[in-house]
Amino acid sequence: MTFKGKSVLVTGAGKGIGRTLCTQLLELGAEVIGITRSQSDVDALNVLPKCRAYCVDLSNAEATRAVVTAAMPVDLLVNCAGTTALEPFLEASADRFDEIMAVNCRAAMIVSQVFAQDLIGRGKGGAIVNVSSTASTSAVRDHTAYCASKGALDAMTRVMALELGPHGIRVNCVNPTVTLTPMGEKAWSDPERSAPMLARIPMGRFCDPSDVAATILYLLSDQAAMVNGAMLPVDGGYGVI
Ligand code: NDP
Repeated sequence: MTFKGKSVLVTGAGKGIGRTLCTQLLELGAEVIGITRSQSDVDALNVLPKCRAYCVDLSNAEATRAVVTAAMPVDLLVNCAGTTALEPFLEASADRFDEIMAVNCRAAMIVSQVFAQDLIGRGKGGAIVNVSSTASTSAVRDHTAYCASKGALDAMTRVMALELGPHGIRVNCVNPTVTLTPMGEKAWSDPERSAPMLARIPMGRFCDPSDVAATILYLLSDQAAMVNGAMLPVDGGYGVI
């Protein structure tokens, strides 16, 4: 697989799955444009050859649109940025709900609109991968807003696949189980929480970020030329139970 001559925009590029994906894309010859929130991560990305990074808070719709417009043109897009908060349903706050929906779902809409409008204007096709979660279809304790945001992201992906497919733009999701990243640590470092989850995964382990990145690379590549509107689990078989 090669991404030589391709430019790829990755949100959430600073840490975890997004950062691993950037490294793999660079190794495969792509030019990488990273978007993330912490300036220290932007600085670390900007020293890599063939990589440039932008700092923005994706919960800010106007700032997001401006930064992504400045980053155009690019060939491929991965909406990877995500956030969560651990709150029991009865204590879930409206402000955190709005923030999680804004980052995990609305930002993917805004970034994809700018990206797709640019591609259509240039008469080019392309591909978008949205990083969803098994939480889009399963209840996860203390993750009300997160589960809602990922269910919404799956639903939005289907509409994007329907409306952008005729323009030659494929849109798919990856749906990972627990992945060993800073976010994974935040949600799953307590063995009392993680053990029952692990027990439900036939492969007997959680995801490494490289497992998720490899699946994203496939969906971005021409090998997936007829894959459009898929929700592809990366869950070691969690979903079969
Ligand atoms: P991490 O927390 O490790 O990394 C997330 C990245 O997104 C960071 O660079 C972070 O920047 C950035 N980000 C978060 N909020 C914003 C924001 N408001 N504006 C700009 N950038 C932002 O997460 P993961 O790598 O684990 O997660 C990546 C994706 O995978 C997410 O969509 C997540 O929901 C999904 N996923 C993760 C799973 C897991 O168990 N880890 C399982 C299933 C899906 P900063 O740190 O500076 O805030």
